Amino acid sequence: MGAVSVTIARGHRGGPWLFLAAFGFTHGVVEWLDLIAFTIFDHEIFTSARVALLAISYALLLEFARLEGQRLGAKVPGPWIYVPVAMIVVAAWLSEGTGMAIVFARYTLAIPGAALAALAFAWNANKVTGGQKVCGYAAAAGFLTYAVVAGLVVPVAPVWPASVVNEDWFADMTGVPVQLIRGAVAYSIALSIWGLWGERLIEDLSTGRYTTHFQRQIVGTLAALTIVLLSGWALTEYLGSVYKKNTEAETSGELDLIASRFNGDAASVIGMVQVVAGAPDVQKAVVGISGNEKRILNLAVEATGAKLGYIINPAGRILATSGREQAALTSARNFPSSRCFYAAMKGQVAQGIIFDNDTGSASYYASSPIFGEWGQIVSVAVLEKPLSDFIDDLRRYDRPFYLVDPNGVVVLTNRPEMRYRTMWPVRDAVRAQLQNEFPDLQDKPLLSRSLSEGRWASIDGERAYVKRRFIYASDWSLVIIRPVQEVFASRMLGIVITLFMMIATLIYALGRGWSIQDSIQMMKRLELQKLASELKLSAITDPLTGLNNRRRFNEVLSLEMMRSQRYGTPLSLVLYDIDHFKNINDSHGHLVGDKVLIQLSDLIADRIRGTDILARWGGEEFAILLPGADESMAQNLAESLRDLISDVTFDDVGKLTCSFGIAQYRGEANMEDFMGRADAALYRAKFNGRNRIEIHNSSTKRRLKANTAA
Ligand code: GH3
Ligand code: MG
Ligand code: MG
Repeated sequence: MGAVSVTIARGHRGGPWLFLAAFGFTHGVVEWLDLIAFTIFDHEIFTSARVALLAISYALLLEFARLEGQRLGAKVPGPWIYVPVAMIVVAAWLSEGTGMAIVFARYTLAIPGAALAALAFAWNANKVTGGQKVCGYAAAAGFLTYAVVAGLVVPVAPVWPASVVNEDWFADMTGVPVQLIRGAVAYSIALSIWGLWGERLIEDLSTGRYTTHFQRQIVGTLAALTIVLLSGWALTEYLGSVYKKNTEAETSGELDLIASRFNGDAASVIGMVQVVAGAPDVQKAVVGISGNEKRILNLAVEATGAKLGYIINPAGRILATSGREQAALTSARNFPSSRCFYAAMKGQVAQGIIFDNDTGSASYYASSPIFGEWGQIVSVAVLEKPLSDFIDDLRRYDRPFYLVDPNGVVVLTNRPEMRYRTMWPVRDAVRAQLQNEFPDLQDKPLLSRSLSEGRWASIDGERAYVKRRFIYASDWSLVIIRPVQEVFASRMLGIVITLFMMIATLIYALGRGWSIQDSIQMMKRLELQKLASELKLSAITDPLTGLNNRRRFNEVLSLEMMRSQRYGTPLSLVLYDIDHFKNINDSHGHLVGDKVLIQLSDLIADRIRGTDILARWGGEEFAILLPGADESMAQNLAESLRDLISDVTFDDVGKLTCSFGIAQYRGEANMEDFMGRADAALYRAKFNGRNRIEIHNSSTKRRLKANTAA
């Protein structure tokens, strides 16, 4: 829109269009800064700068509408209008922050700016016809829509109507983000204005060449822009998907690494607990006839890096422990109520993670049933390995990780603020029960729905890739979350490439438009010049013969008279008249007479010098002005012309003759005096029998010369 408006402003030498251009550019910059803030970084100052720029852009739009209104003769408020508006926006800003400032900038500047611009375009469209009318109304409709989607639909804010009619409401209602609509509307406005400009040029220049050029230009540019947009979109998607796939693969790899580290530990513990449960000494101990069970438990603990080993009877009473008795009692406190215990009591080798809410530590447990003499389950062997080492390793790992219990509660994480949040929503009954277990349970789940493996999700408004893996066949799981700033960054690359391609295309298209416009205007100017010079020529030319006319001859004559006076150079005049021309007209008709005049004119014009001035004096009478020639030179010329004429056979009429009268300039102030003497000589030539040359008063002239010498 900026580029198109600048083009128009260029044609109109500034004016309101410059403000529309400034609006287009400023607003475009704001959109880009928003994108940067959204993907790369943001800061309080940066936000403020963007809000200020946004308000300024809308003020520019309003100024365009205001000036257009003024131009159209509407009663519009002066520039003072910006004072109360600025006060409102600044007040909203100071009291409620940038969010409210945006809302009020949109209400007080964007709505009137766009609505009035729509009015101005409609007003203009009403006065024109054809393509201009269509484009003008299209631009008006665009601006009216813009007033709604950019002015009325604002970010959510705790003030009416922003609390009801806002961007969220719009997205809910239409399923489309309003920003997309704003972009599309801006695009359509730019196109309409461009069309308007083109139609106006077509009318101004009214050359077929420009009309076809402009139509081709519109189609070509639209096609180019569409191709750029589509391939840019494809490129952006491709870059995004490449990064997405990489992210997914990397995240899985990381999770696999962590899980295999854990599973290795778990496998050795679970293997060892079965060894312990199967050891004869342990089986004997259960019935009270062994003294080796403690030694075996100690060995098992040592071999697996576990913290504790113990044997527990079906009633949950500890029969034997590794290490000291007291430690085992504290540690095993939760065990008889755990799923591990029941599974073992059912004869299964079981494992699980038990989280101690008091100490905030989690331990891995493996249990195995101990069978009696007749195959009955007499007690359960347990090995406990704290997860502290594992957790320490994870803490060093810089991505967010979450250890999630079977109910979905995050019990351990390197993001302290996320602890005791549920990973996904849980039913109210479950939540109530969890609340007992975890007094610090937080309300809001991380994800909007449960997660089976990997998924792209939005976590507290930020997009991330989330991957879950169950821990070694338990109900516990490990979740890692990878934020996707980088995905945006690689998409951003695609978007920026697209932008530059678009700009390049537009510059090319507009540049071509400008140059063609200029060349057409140049052509028009040349045509005009040609026309003007033709007009000038016809003013000094005799239309029939193409010779100088009498007017031109008089001009040159007076000039040459002055020159002769000033420099003392001789100047002579030859007048000649066709003899008995009336007879030619009478016997052959007027047209043949005309042809004779033309033929004679060409004949004489070819013979005389470039510096001699030949003119049609009137009817069939001609004059030759000879600068630099005295009367004898003029006489020589007249003789040669008389001979020439006598040699020529004229079309349709055959032979004809002319009579010549000659006079040399004597410094007369008056043109008529000089001419009159030549005329007198011509009259004498006629009188003396025609087809002859007479010189006016050569004796008088010689006298004059003698006088001057004296
Ligand atoms: P002379 O000069 O020898 O005395 O005889 P003339 O017949 O040429 O004399 P006059 O000057 O009386 O006649 C000139 C005629 O030329 C009169 C007019 O009809 C004719 N004439 C003047 N201008 C044109 C013209 O442009 N075309 C034609 N066909 N005839 C013209
Ligand atoms: Mg004549
Ligand atoms: Mg005549």
